[in-house]
Amino acid sequence: MFDTVLIANRGEIALRILRACQGLGLKTVAVYSEADRDARYVQLADQAICIGPSAPGQSYLDHAAVLFAAELSGAQAIHPGYGFLSENAAFAERVEQARLTFIGPSAACIRTMGDKVSAKRAMREAGVPCVPGPDTSMPDDADSILAIAQSIGYPVIVKAAGGGGGRGMRVVEQADKLLDAIALTREEARRAFGNPELYIEKFLGHPRHVEIQVLCDAYGNALWLGARDCSMQRRHQKVLEEAPAPGIDPALVAKVGERCAAACRQIGYVGVGTFEFLFEDGEFYFIEMNTRLQVEHPVTEMTTGIDIVQQQVRMARGERLSLTQADVGVHGHALECRINAEDPHTFMPTPGQVSRWEIPGGYGVRVDSHVTHGYRVPPYYDSMVAKVITHGATRDEALARMRLALSEMRVEGISTNIALHCDILQDPGFCEGGVDIHHLERWLQQRTAS
Ligand code: ADP
Repeated sequence: MFDTVLIANRGEIALRILRACQGLGLKTVAVYSEADRDARYVQLADQAICIGPSAPGQSYLDHAAVLFAAELSGAQAIHPGYGFLSENAAFAERVEQARLTFIGPSAACIRTMGDKVSAKRAMREAGVPCVPGPDTSMPDDADSILAIAQSIGYPVIVKAAGGGGGRGMRVVEQADKLLDAIALTREEARRAFGNPELYIEKFLGHPRHVEIQVLCDAYGNALWLGARDCSMQRRHQKVLEEAPAPGIDPALVAKVGERCAAACRQIGYVGVGTFEFLFEDGEFYFIEMNTRLQVEHPVTEMTTGIDIVQQQVRMARGERLSLTQADVGVHGHALECRINAEDPHTFMPTPGQVSRWEIPGGYGVRVDSHVTHGYRVPPYYDSMVAKVITHGATRDEALARMRLALSEMRVEGISTNIALHCDILQDPGFCEGGVDIHHLERWLQQRTAS
């Protein structure tokens, strides 16, 4: 069993993991690129090791550099956080080969779920509802492809089996556009993901993005921790998340949650994970599973009272789940606003030095951030600088707390999207609850036009 954890990540999540480990009495090793040398969490760790230059490929994504840091520091476990190496099966395998613990599921599970076609097949076999369309990769001949799309019914969406980050997808409205769309997407997929495999499914016109958090131990126990709604997206990037998903019958969430837990037991999944669904006209449709911790995990923590990161580490240490499904309750409502260093109009990242950093607080307010006064936001990584999370007995109370919290926040030296969040929190559509995944973009367009 390990007592020292190397945190193979940066920013707010590095700090979040560090706190979780310290809370469990474990020692921590921070690894950092030259750009993150002065970050606060680097100083808070028991040991800190520079693993390379700013470019992620030469530091946070460099398998050998991370493994060498583990060897050097004596860490016996590696927490990959999210992004970077968190869903890299080859890296997880190397960690296992080095006789270290990868804090996540097995390399085999990551591989199955990383391929969206095999993930869909595994989920369908486990009884998880999926988007209509075959769970096999696309055949080569044009007639068979056209026949598949015909049987699904247009519009369809052509997706890369190895896709991620909202890339490698194309919507096709009618048959005469299908083959060209496939050729283009295949080429993109080959270049971007090194995997030209594609699949087709029904394109849903006005879905919500609703996801279910799971937590599993190594002894076949699996729990689901309620649903999150992440429909507020711009260019497939989540902007604001909440738990529970408003207006969805808890009995339906429970039914789908049970299927997710059953699927985890079936594939021998260990740790935390998220089943992502599109939700339309009262039905859930599985789209993919994330085999890692997610940015938006705090809204589930605030509503269930479960420290997801500590649980993740404990499961990796071989502990048995001490909770049963009956112990998991969803209390009140939580919201999370992702605060990014970006231009409020063009959304271009705005790296630079933070000359003023005042964050909100008080009852029901949580801020997860690695930023401190004078911090320099580096231009090499994701532009998220903080997550502001509020909790209330009701959704309206959580919303009111968020409005107040954001009005207290003062950031200078860099531009942020705080004002954008403040405007979104006044939007009657969003305040009503249950908007679809196109709502934010529609709202942004109207805002620009007026
Ligand atoms: P990625 O791994 O790139 O995030 P996903 O499969 O999760 O890819 O899809 C990303 C987004 O694309 C979804 O949140 C949704 O907005 C849209 N999308 C994916 N599949 C469909 C579909 N069948 N119908 C409608 N929209 C879809």
